[in-house]
Amino acid sequence: MSIRLIVKHPDEVLRERAQEVTKFNSNLHKLLDDMADTMYDANGVGLAAPQIGILKRVIVVDADEEHGLIELVNPEIVSAEGEQLGPEGCLSIPGLQGDVRRANKVVIRGQDRYGNPVQYEGTGLLARAFQHEVDHLNGVLFIDIAESVYEARKAEEDGE
Ligand SMILES: [Zn+2]
Repeated sequence: MSIRLIVKHPDEVLRERAQEVTKFNSNLHKLLDDMADTMYDANGVGLAAPQIGILKRVIVVDADEEHGLIELVNPEIVSAEGEQLGPEGCLSIPGLQGDVRRANKVVIRGQDRYGNPVQYEGTGLLARAFQHEVDHLNGVLFIDIAESVYEARKAEEDGE
């Protein structure tokens, strides 16, 4: 396991659509391990593969103690309800935050590292993290959809 370099905005790799994963092999497992290491090292609550320069549909999220680390391959949000408006940051956009309107509850489907189908339901911060990371796989950044963008206060600089 190792910590990878986090790609920063405005790097073009953050604007591309990531590709579906078809091989659930040791390369994927190493990618997932490295992504978790990199996320925790940066005090993030989520990380998408394009953020370390890998254009694959892979995300990791750790946004609450109930779920802990969640690995998702080829994730897709299959239902969304409610609404939340709150501050959001991104490990690829250090120093900035924005108020982003998101669904308050989502169901996300994908595969685990072995290719088995998995599904999670998240509310609040976890739902926000799922939506933020899936956006990354489609080249979308929070600054594109934020209602306002402002300088992050230090204590709140946790990013996704
Ligand atoms: Zn992000």
